[in-house]
Amino acid sequence: MKPGVVTGAQYRELVAAAKSGGYALPAVNVVGSHSLNAVLEAAAQAKSDVIIQLSNGGAQFWAGKGMADAATAKVIGAVSAARHTALLAEHYGICVVLHTDHADRKHVGWVDGLMDWNEKAFAETGAPLFSSHMLDLSAEPIESNLAECERMLRRMAKTGVSLEIELGVTGGEEDGIGHDYDDSADNAHLYTQPEDVLTAYDRLASIGHFSVAASFGNVHGVYKPGNVQLRPEILQASQALVQQTHGLSENPLDLVFHGGSGSEKDKIAAAIRFGVFKMNIDTDTQFAFAQPIGDYVKANPVAFSHQIDPDDGTPYKKKYDPRTWLRKGEQGMVTRLQEAFADLGSAGKTLAR
Ligand SMILES: [Zn+2]
Repeated sequence: MKPGVVTGAQYRELVAAAKSGGYALPAVNVVGSHSLNAVLEAAAQAKSDVIIQLSNGGAQFWAGKGMADAATAKVIGAVSAARHTALLAEHYGICVVLHTDHADRKHVGWVDGLMDWNEKAFAETGAPLFSSHMLDLSAEPIESNLAECERMLRRMAKTGVSLEIELGVTGGEEDGIGHDYDDSADNAHLYTQPEDVLTAYDRLASIGHFSVAASFGNVHGVYKPGNVQLRPEILQASQALVQQTHGLSENPLDLVFHGGSGSEKDKIAAAIRFGVFKMNIDTDTQFAFAQPIGDYVKANPVAFSHQIDPDDGTPYKKKYDPRTWLRKGEQGMVTRLQEAFADLGSAGKTLAR
């Protein structure tokens, strides 16, 4: 495969290669060129393909928080990020999947707005801007969730864009989307029912490519250990039900692991065995970006309050130059991502040639 952003049949080939090769790709949230470049650098270093994703808030941030029309900013920020990524990714020598994260009912219009751009790009170049988009209507009854997913997938299939859906509820909150996580309640709602996955498969499989974010005790963010029990066997049960009902081969579903930050390594490995090809990581890479910058500021406090040292006249331009400390953040993220590529088994597996 040629290095760069992959969509349509190439995207599906990438997913199939991960599943048959027993590895998954990290899906890393980015909010600007610094985090994006860090992901590209990390993937190139690991010789791994990678998934880059934007939340609606991340897309808005890309366009600039000062832009008056937030709804427009969310669309054109994502489009700008997609074009920027497409241009750079080829030069890093790896394959990149471009995706947008959680869109609840309020953000369905955001995804339709992005589909307008995908269709325009497809008409001009034969390829959409994005590989896939997510709709997260898991807070709604399954019928209304799937009805909207079906409408969107019919639209997406025409340009080869894939849809990620969510069934069951991922705990925690991300970008204002998510669900209160109550660790005293019984967490049955955190586990997707295999019957719901089968219903989704029956409804969507003939329309276009889709993937399923199934809940198996996963929670967004990082919580104290022991509060949540990850049960990857839930994924296995969903795969088995769809496989048996339709007489398919093993692991027919393309599954996505949300809330991957802070997860136990053996549970990650089990999830991959049961057909997970994508693991979202945001909280841990945010911290990996912030921590070295915090250390740098602590080590150089005067340079962050004075341009020239008030006592001895030392100029601090080189220390407060944003390139100096933003680079520390990028490097922190690059280092943390090497761990993700290793955990997911994708290091050295790039399909780019
Ligand atoms: Zn998520």
